Amino acid sequence: MRTLLAVLCVLLFGVVAVTASGSSAEVASPAPAPRYTPMPVIPTIAPDVGERSARSYVRLWGTFALPIEGGEVPSDPDLLPGAPRDYRGGIHEGIDFPAPNGTAVLAAASGTVARVDASFLDWTREQQEIALYEALTLGYTPAATLDRIRGRQVWIDHGKGVITRYAHLSAVEPLTVGEKIEAGTLIGEVGSSGYPQGGPHLHFEVRVGDDFYGDGLTGDDLARAVSRLFR
Ligand SMILES: [Zn+2]
Repeated sequence: MRTLLAVLCVLLFGVVAVTASGSSAEVASPAPAPRYTPMPVIPTIAPDVGERSARSYVRLWGTFALPIEGGEVPSDPDLLPGAPRDYRGGIHEGIDFPAPNGTAVLAAASGTVARVDASFLDWTREQQEIALYEALTLGYTPAATLDRIRGRQVWIDHGKGVITRYAHLSAVEPLTVGEKIEAGTLIGEVGSSGYPQGGPHLHFEVRVGDDFYGDGLTGDDLARAVSRLFR
């Protein structure tokens, strides 16, 4: 009995000793360093306005004939690329030529027809309102919305990444995608499809790669780049 008691005492002492040493070990060891992921350092991307000076557009100067019969190059900044378009939380990417409905629209240079909206169905006012509300909420105009705002269109590919877009047309000529056409070819008529609130005008847009001609320019640089675009 005495032996059993002694064994129990030894066991009990051992448990207490192990527990005590265990807890003292926890206290003694340094607390693990808090684990956190530092915020990545994102380099500030400087606006490339400086890089994209007027000089970068010089290669296109004198490339195009006026795309509208009897028109003249607009100078009102609101009609030029980069003008704010508050109703859709975006900016203007083309050059607007106000003109009466039905005015002849001409290919501004020779090229290959890349798009002709021969069968075109304009969106309803309700569809437009929903899309514009979404654009305002997003703070930019989604590409699909912008395309519908441009209405009935013809696009001409001039090679080397340069494409001209003719938008808001009321009618298009019977052109075929892939067809080669010359500068001055009749391609459609002025209208206000896609955004009737803007009134009839030709929205003429020059795409340069993924960008639009005039992007990054302002003031006199922009006005000069737009007027020099036409021969
Ligand atoms: Zn426009």
